[in-house]
Amino acid sequence: MLKVKYKIILLIVCLLIFILLSKTLYNKKEEPEKFVKPYTDLEVIVYNTREQVIRYMNLEEYIVGVVAAEMQASFSIEALKAQAVAARTYTLGRAIGKYGTAWENHFGSHVCTNPAHCQAYIPKELYSTWYPKADVEKSWQKVEQAVYETAGLILTYEGEIINPLYHANSGGITEDVQEVWSSVSQIPYLSRVYSEGEDGYSSYEKKVVFSGDEFRKILKKTYPDIVFSGELSEDIEVIQYTSSNRAKEIVIGNTVVPGTKFREMFSLASTQIEIYFPGDDTIEIITFGFGHGVGMSQCGANELAEKGKDYEYILQYYYTGVEIEPIPEEIATDLKKK
Ligand SMILES: [Zn+2]
Repeated sequence: MLKVKYKIILLIVCLLIFILLSKTLYNKKEEPEKFVKPYTDLEVIVYNTREQVIRYMNLEEYIVGVVAAEMQASFSIEALKAQAVAARTYTLGRAIGKYGTAWENHFGSHVCTNPAHCQAYIPKELYSTWYPKADVEKSWQKVEQAVYETAGLILTYEGEIINPLYHANSGGITEDVQEVWSSVSQIPYLSRVYSEGEDGYSSYEKKVVFSGDEFRKILKKTYPDIVFSGELSEDIEVIQYTSSNRAKEIVIGNTVVPGTKFREMFSLASTQIEIYFPGDDTIEIITFGFGHGVGMSQCGANELAEKGKDYEYILQYYYTGVEIEPIPEEIATDLKKK
């Protein structure tokens, strides 16, 4: 009897030791790795368009606010890291004047917080107003992790900082840059690639309906001389598609309208469109994807991350042929906190 009792005690002790040991090991694994990344002491000048204030900000702290504003924190960490590197690249590109003159919009700052001009930005204290359902602390921490684990890293192509265009949802395939900005010639790292799994996101498909009158009125604003021949269904035809199956040219009445102009006029989510005529003098436009479609698709990036791909793979998938490198020393020297 006694023997059995001892055996039981011994078993319990062994079990306790095992639990204690495995817990210690587990905790050790959970400890965050120490990342020593270059250039966490750089400063950029940010024009906050909402507050109309110019501030000197630590580059990485500013990037946290950009990633928080530009991508949902519920996305996978590797997608957030890809977004952080893209956002940092754009900021540095602006700082060295790579994307044309911005000074007149910025009053001497490197970047502004207007998403239509530069990149969106949100400070932590306003996070809950943008994402009311989110756990602010948890989300912010995750975004910070993505930014600091990639601190100081940017994208280059043949040694030059790239223009890392990105968009919400590609609708299944991204677009060649010259199809959206006709003044630009083909850029290898901004060429179309397939992007799977994006149909599972709410941004994938949108539908808008216009009455014939509304539709014609909007067109007349931009094309005062446009002549309609009669029935809507006989007046509209997509006559040319881009290689990614986006509307390139649409004939409406006696006028040829570029697909990108069509999207702008009717505030469409994208130029991947299907057109229907559900009733008398009514037009229904269904769009696939969200945004211009060039460069990295954020939903696509999240899909790849969920399949186990890391941020480097994601970035090199969407920006063909790029390198992920530390900020060049000559740029870093200029932005070092004085
Ligand atoms: Zn700007």
